[in-house]
Amino acid sequence: MKLLEYQAKHLLKEYHVPIPEGFVVKGLSELNKVVQQLGGRCVVKAQILAGGRGKAGGVRLAGTLREAAAAAEDLLGKPLETYQTAGQGEMVNALLIEEQLSFLKELYFSVTYDRETQTPVMMLSAEGGVEIEEIAVKKTDSIRKVHVNPLTGIQEHHIRELYLSLGRGKEGYRAFTELVRNIYRLYMERDAAMVEINPLVLLPDDTFLALDAKMIIDDNALFRHGDLVEIRKVPDDEQQEVEAREKGLSFVKLDGDVACMVNGAGLAMATMDMIKHNGMEPANFLDIGGSSNPQKVIEALDIIMKNPRVKVIFINVFGGITRCDDVANGFKKALSRRSLEIPMVMRLTGTNEKEGRRILEEIGYEAFTDLKEAVARLKEVRNGIREGN
Ligand code: GDP
Ligand code: MN
Repeated sequence: MKLLEYQAKHLLKEYHVPIPEGFVVKGLSELNKVVQQLGGRCVVKAQILAGGRGKAGGVRLAGTLREAAAAAEDLLGKPLETYQTAGQGEMVNALLIEEQLSFLKELYFSVTYDRETQTPVMMLSAEGGVEIEEIAVKKTDSIRKVHVNPLTGIQEHHIRELYLSLGRGKEGYRAFTELVRNIYRLYMERDAAMVEINPLVLLPDDTFLALDAKMIIDDNALFRHGDLVEIRKVPDDEQQEVEAREKGLSFVKLDGDVACMVNGAGLAMATMDMIKHNGMEPANFLDIGGSSNPQKVIEALDIIMKNPRVKVIFINVFGGITRCDDVANGFKKALSRRSLEIPMVMRLTGTNEKEGRRILEEIGYEAFTDLKEAVARLKEVRNGIREGN
């Protein structure tokens, strides 16, 4: 579970990590008071889970109340698109309004879990800020990594090693020690999978402050963090997956526009491979399972249709325990409740194939037996659809 910046900062504060003074606003009417309290100059920050806000215009420095109001109006209640939101944007429902600070340097600090060593790992870089992701790829030696044995915890030498990599004098060491210990304690006590402070800024008085914060809580530990579950925000694109899980369907949303509905996880993977191999992109992974139940087909169609990007539906059923007539019946029932505006291509073979095909013919659909033929038809249909429709 990811936390929003203001939620992560709330926890940082609880663990005595310095953060800027700030207020969360969810409507424009609350803005005046807040900005005045900060003295006019402030930073307006869109609260979304996706990264890359700054570069996408989601972090605005405002010198006056008027500028702050303009920025807030620009951001609030609209989707913000960053390199991480894959074309759809993430709705901005809250803004964090913070005091504007001047700092000497932007650093990067994080605590995550290293699967290889099976220990937490702390990372520090003297080159924090919005470009750090590129640094991570280009010159990894600018990032100092320190592994911590979870049984013995943080030792003095861990902190010394990190601090030395910054090349700074002893004035900042005490504040740094406290900072690292506090963030590590937060990471452990709240069962975080990641705490990332980027930028961690160095202030003129040789202390440190978390200017931004990202935090992920391990889902498997949520049962012991009731207070965190309450603030949970399910991102728009996970909503479909949560719903599918509740209905016993195995569903993963993807970025393409060819929706698929398949019986069996292996066949579903193979189907996605076929789609990609033919120059198309799947909109989802969906396994309706092995059991025979028309209701599942109805629910699967409902979930597929919630994705506005879907341009064509591909159903691939290899009947075994799953009976073709059940799938066809489910499809027929679904169509009796709602009309299908987008084209559908189906491959149906195996148990009760004839009966299934007859049911589909009744409602004007044809099904292929051969997967290759079905995918060829799918390609024709998909390519016949004009982009942007
Ligand atoms: P992100 O793009 O979502 O990671 O957003 P951040 O919260 O990290 O902000 C992006 C950048 O905005 C930071 O790296 C800073 O350079 C800048 N920034 C944010 N707050 C302040 C501030 O109070 N003062 C100044 N001068 N810059 C800020
Ligand atoms: Mn950041």
